[in-house]
Amino acid sequence: MPALDPATRDALEARLRFYRELGLTDFYRRPVAISETSSSTDPGAPSTTKSWVGDQEQNADLSQEMTPIPARKPIAHPPTPASPVATQDHLSALRIIREDLGECTRCALHKGRHQIVFADGDPNARLMFVGEGPGADEDAQGLPFVGRAGQLLNNMIAAMGLKREQVYIANVVKCRPPQNRTPEPDEANTCSPFLFRQIEAVGPEVIVALGATAATYLLGQRQPLAGLRGRVHSFRGRKLIVTYHPAFLLRDPRQKKEAWADLQIAMRELGLKAPARPVP
Ligand code: URA
Repeated sequence: MPALDPATRDALEARLRFYRELGLTDFYRRPVAISETSSSTDPGAPSTTKSWVGDQEQNADLSQEMTPIPARKPIAHPPTPASPVATQDHLSALRIIREDLGECTRCALHKGRHQIVFADGDPNARLMFVGEGPGADEDAQGLPFVGRAGQLLNNMIAAMGLKREQVYIANVVKCRPPQNRTPEPDEANTCSPFLFRQIEAVGPEVIVALGATAATYLLGQRQPLAGLRGRVHSFRGRKLIVTYHPAFLLRDPRQKKEAWADLQIAMRELGLKAPARPVP
């Protein structure tokens, strides 16, 4: 490898110091230099405030709750202090992660995508939602949860007394899987380090895993969703709550009450009071 000139070396050292301060120590080589620096912090689709528990929508095209996810060995996550990043640095940290992701070709999912779906929402959010991966609408718009499942998620967020712009939303994988299938373990394991870095950068107090895929890769082990719901787990020292994926709730609206109970746990952990009539 050729020697670095002093200016490049200084810049590299400064960046590595910054990464270390964020608690980031895992690095990946990519074959081409990428200069894209944009990060998706667009507030995205507007929320609606109608009751979501009473929605009786059917026929969602995703069925991840029914799809078995191959078992994998548990990953020991080292504990990380609650919010190691100064508030004004959250956006910069996310920009660096987006820059490192580049026009990613690390797994096969890149072949079918139109756009990488990085994230949406407030870089300083106290609450973060993690889904599985982009669907067709997200792939077209470059933002997570903007289709029918996203509309329901917006309603769930509104029922908590929050706006979509106040939370941070990301996925386990950032490229749309073909036919919206569940991401393969190698795809999820390749992409999830970027999600973990996003979590560290935003520093949410509470993470809500939406569905089995998010729960599996955040907890580092596969378990039936029913056994994970209804209590507080930990992800690197942060509170993690598991609930149903909105696409599953579109298929089986009877489970919305259970999901609302999970969201109330998240609200309790955040010290949030439910709006006067969240669920008419
Ligand atoms: N489902 C997900 O898991 N994520 C999205 O962004 C959209 C649908």
